[in-house]
Amino acid sequence: MTRKKEKILRGIPASHGFAKGYVFLHRSYLPELNERTLEPKTVAAEVQRFQSAVRSAQRDLRRLHAQVKREMGRDFAEFIGVQLALLTDEEVLSETERFIKERARNAEFAYTETLKRLAGPMTKSNVPFFQERALDVVDVSARVLRHLLGDELPSLHGIEEGAVIVAHDLPPSQAALLDSEKVKGLVLEGGGRTSHTSIIAKAKEIPAVVGVESVCREAREGQLVVVDGYRGLAVLNPSRKRLSAYESDIELCQRHRQSLSLLAGQEPVTADGKMIDLSANIEFLAEARAALEYGARGVGLFRTEYAFLAKRRPPTEEEQFKVFAEAAKLLKPWPVIIRTFDLGGDKVVPGYVESNPFLGWRGLRMCFDNIELFKGQLRAILRSSAFGNVKVMFPMLSALEELRRAKLLIKEVKRELRKERVKFDEHLEVGVMVETPSAAIMAEQLAQECSFLSIGSNDLTQYTLAVDRGNERVAELYDHFHPAVLQLIKRTIDAAHRQGIWVGLCGEFASDPLGILVLLGFGIDELSVAPGFIPEAKNIIRSIDTGSAAKIMKAAMGLSTALEVKRLLRRELHKRFPKLAEFLFELEIAES
Ligand code: PEP
Ligand code: MG
Repeated sequence: MTRKKEKILRGIPASHGFAKGYVFLHRSYLPELNERTLEPKTVAAEVQRFQSAVRSAQRDLRRLHAQVKREMGRDFAEFIGVQLALLTDEEVLSETERFIKERARNAEFAYTETLKRLAGPMTKSNVPFFQERALDVVDVSARVLRHLLGDELPSLHGIEEGAVIVAHDLPPSQAALLDSEKVKGLVLEGGGRTSHTSIIAKAKEIPAVVGVESVCREAREGQLVVVDGYRGLAVLNPSRKRLSAYESDIELCQRHRQSLSLLAGQEPVTADGKMIDLSANIEFLAEARAALEYGARGVGLFRTEYAFLAKRRPPTEEEQFKVFAEAAKLLKPWPVIIRTFDLGGDKVVPGYVESNPFLGWRGLRMCFDNIELFKGQLRAILRSSAFGNVKVMFPMLSALEELRRAKLLIKEVKRELRKERVKFDEHLEVGVMVETPSAAIMAEQLAQECSFLSIGSNDLTQYTLAVDRGNERVAELYDHFHPAVLQLIKRTIDAAHRQGIWVGLCGEFASDPLGILVLLGFGIDELSVAPGFIPEAKNIIRSIDTGSAAKIMKAAMGLSTALEVKRLLRRELHKRFPKLAEFLFELEIAES
């Protein structure tokens, strides 16, 4: 028998890690539905049948909500609240009932036709936010149809140990219930790095690749597949040679992780004794717990847009306060640095869509035009500061006046709270994210007027190199190690230190072992990384002394291209961690 050829499909790495498993094809499309004309006397009963199916779906969702809340936290469960809202949307329900009554058609048909008309434009949208909502619509309608048809729609129940789910899309309600003991990986045709499903996969540490064109057509049920969540590859039917290379990678990865777990009780201190504030980037409260378990010394970046995106409306001051206060209590005495809304860019919300979003109405700029929304968030942050060590920072700043204006607002909010006799930390520290070249160039002036700087290298790279961070066509030009980016990072760190304040970095650069080598050489004080990367970061920090790191940095700064810089850093990493370097770079080198 001839062995089937291997096929390598490329996508977007959504959750790091390697997985080997068997294809579990999951079809989440809706079944073909027949159109039936009703006898006039059965119309009323058909409306009742529809209402009862909606009630049953509502019961399912409430149960699911309780389960996700229990297992993953309240804020994680919010998207189910969104689905409940979609399910009980007045317009959809009344239009469907009218369709049944006026056209005497069966409930399944009436419901799908109504959804097609009302939600159809959303499914065709290029805007990630609307695409994600379209998935929620499919998820909700599948539930109602299942009750109407008394039918089992495709489900992930009964999935076997060792499965890799291959699907066009996976609704977040199903992703949230994935059992990471059984499900080894996830390969999706749709989705983006910022989709709920990608975020959930990361939180559950399930390796995932999304945006993999035609994987559903190419994959066969039960076929062997390797998921490479580092480089965004799905390898169907891997050749023996590739499989054994990946197998040793997987083993290496596991052994490496085990060895890292031995560091759990150790501090993130360099070999010559410099303590680095190693903290975590989070979007949801549940991640704060994971961060603590991994040994984080606080939260260095709490992205607050997700509460907005999950709800489809601005969260109220009260809702935000509860989450921030809970995080503050949980992390105490470690700091929780809350970043104010960074909406715009790729984190789009309805009503705030524009044609050139990354250079447009984003972050602080949008907040200044929505003062009530902004003040509500500042109030929530200040109020939560009474419960722990809370700090605030502003994103996407390009001029000093923006910092001054935001600080004036904080002053105003403090006055209001004092008047209302509400407690807060009078000395709440205010920081600035350095994410634009202008902010990096003006770092000295910014540092004079705030308590800390946090470098947002994801955006700093995109704006310095004029490369859209989400555009696959120019992805090769997007490189944190570009000498221009490194110079701006160094300049920012030096400026902060000259002004006597601390400086951190919370972009993906800090979650790259090579990036950590450079940053230690630059004298960084804080690193904020994905919770799962904390043990790795600690390992690197502990292995090097600041003098050696400074030497490496000096050599790197003498180079002219990103490639030269990376080669140098790889050699240095290889000297200290031969196994880690092999595991991280061997396949990459083999491929290039
Ligand atoms: C960054 O830009 O580096 C950053 C941390 O912010 P975000 O990725 O949320 O834009
Ligand atoms: Mg940013």
